[in-house]
Amino acid sequence: MPELPEVEALCAFLRERLTGRVVARVQPVAISALKTYDPPVTALEGLTVGSVARHGKFLDIEAGGLHLVIHLARAGWLRWKVGLPAEPPHPSPKNPLALRVRLAGEAADGFDLTEAGTKKGLAVHVVRDPAEVPGVARLGPDPLDPGFALESFAALLSGERRQLKGVLRDQTVLAGVGNAYSDEVLHAARMSPFKLASSLTEEETARLYAALGDTLRDAVERSRGLAAGELKAEKKLGMRVHGRTGQPCPVCGDTVREVSFADSSLQYCPTCQTGGKPLADRRLSRLLK
Ligand SMILES: [Zn+2]
Repeated sequence: MPELPEVEALCAFLRERLTGRVVARVQPVAISALKTYDPPVTALEGLTVGSVARHGKFLDIEAGGLHLVIHLARAGWLRWKVGLPAEPPHPSPKNPLALRVRLAGEAADGFDLTEAGTKKGLAVHVVRDPAEVPGVARLGPDPLDPGFALESFAALLSGERRQLKGVLRDQTVLAGVGNAYSDEVLHAARMSPFKLASSLTEEETARLYAALGDTLRDAVERSRGLAAGELKAEKKLGMRVHGRTGQPCPVCGDTVREVSFADSSLQYCPTCQTGGKPLADRRLSRLLK
């Protein structure tokens, strides 16, 4: 799933290509991806793109006062295309295409939103105000917002009875951090994902805040200027523990381990994060009882 750094890079990629361009056609293929119907997606046709912004993991393309708000979810992606045909694409169960946006002009360029797999999570909204999208309205502060100070972060954690892993990826607490970057931030901060957020000392809060900002800024920096098609590979390359179960930790050489968490799993380095002790897999131990 694309998280803050990838969506930020996609946003810059689109800003460069879409700003000032006129939308010629918006062609929905997978109707399940459309979450709003008034105004219809076709209302964007003939409008000029004014800006492209990011809200957490949401992309927001503004044209003529309307906003095309996109959440790529787990398996959604955006592909830039040149020479798009004028005729509408055909829906088919094998076709991962969910929505096509073609721009006016000779190049017939634009983008396809695609979604692989069966878990349909890709969401497209057309609204007059991005805050009309419930997921956007609920977003917590953006960790890369210059106004997001250490004090704001400390306030979010105080009184938070959940484990750090769950808190960091909760979009209503922090906007844009998901399963991958929460693993990376906790590794950089040398903290157990199971540590209770409210139990952090002042020094630990400062360390986690620094790790959060550094990890995300570093990933944004590495993704900058990359084409949409290159972002997924770059994200994978930059990971130190996430998705690297069984491989050596690049910091200490210990073996990266995996443990189940909520609906998925997380990866961590025991030496760097849990005093060398492997975390107990609660789901597994519950099953064995
Ligand atoms: Zn390590």
